[in-house]
Amino acid sequence: MPARILDGTKIANDIRSELAADIKSMSAAGVRPGLAVVLAGHNPASEIYVRSKVKACEELGVYSEQHTPPDSVTTEDLLGLIADLNRRNEIDGILVQLPLPTQVDAKKVLMAVDPGKDVDGFHPVNVGFLSTQRPGLVPCTPAGVMEILKRSNIAVAGQEAVVVGRSDIVGKPVAMLLINANATVTVCHSKTRDLAEVCRRADILVAAIGRAGVITRDFVKPGATVIDVGMNKVTDPAEFARLFAGNRKREEAFRAKGSTLVGDVHPEVAQVAGAITPVPGGVGPLTIAMLMFNTLKAARMRRGSGVPEFSRA
Ligand code: NAP
Repeated sequence: MPARILDGTKIANDIRSELAADIKSMSAAGVRPGLAVVLAGHNPASEIYVRSKVKACEELGVYSEQHTPPDSVTTEDLLGLIADLNRRNEIDGILVQLPLPTQVDAKKVLMAVDPGKDVDGFHPVNVGFLSTQRPGLVPCTPAGVMEILKRSNIAVAGQEAVVVGRSDIVGKPVAMLLINANATVTVCHSKTRDLAEVCRRADILVAAIGRAGVITRDFVKPGATVIDVGMNKVTDPAEFARLFAGNRKREEAFRAKGSTLVGDVHPEVAQVAGAITPVPGGVGPLTIAMLMFNTLKAARMRRGSGVPEFSRA
């Protein structure tokens, strides 16, 4: 039986509606959450991401502003900008879009963000809060993975979870959230021996690898939940055929566009998994929804008024 499709677009829209109501009542009480986005230099992909984030702010009634220093910006310039944003009371969230120009010390810049305004959840203070189960700001994509599981009524406590990928922005925080939710967690990476065998233990398999379709059906226990975080652009026709041969709709779109977006999970996995997130339309839409959640959460935490209502975390 084909897997249940976990519709990330619908879940993200539900979250956005809930947040919009919270933001409306907060703004009516005189506090409008505010997000500052720092987009340094010229990077077409980053510009698209930032546009979507600013659009989400507009739709939800969050105040937003963009700072666009040039390609030649220095670490000192950015530290000055961050210090200014840290001081301003109407700014609740600061998002530094990565990658930064190569001459900039990105770690130093991210460390300078006030942890209370760190809506990406990358600051070591927030990483520490997450690992010690204290209230803090959690990275958006991993938080989105947990919302998909919760809102799809997929049990986590006591389950075997395997996370493939150990990056600071996805793999490690997802693993930590799953541990905090009482799963038994294994983390895999490029040096893991017998990856398929380890993955087959999983009741919940999270792929955050960055390689198109590496998780094939022999990696998946029948009935497992598979969460595909990967977003890979495939342009090679042979690679496309390996993944989508016989899928008429995808073939037409690939011919027209010359590329397609693919996760880390091979589409054939939908034949064995119990539930699966699609790409696109799975984890992706949750990332911006959770950024909006974090902005509201930061606004409330800074004012001592608790976290937004919808979170059942
Ligand atoms: P990353 O920093 O490149 O980390 C990739 C991880 O995968 C590393 O831990 C690496 O192991 C591991 N890995 C690579 N090849 C492997 C293999 N053949 N077998 C086992 N493990 C392997 O990537 P990331 O930033 O975490 O992102 C992962 C994916 O998620 C990317 O496709 C990215 O585009 C996507 N993403 C999506 C969203 C979203 O909104 N949906 C947000 C963020 C990221 P080592 O540590 O040993 O190198």
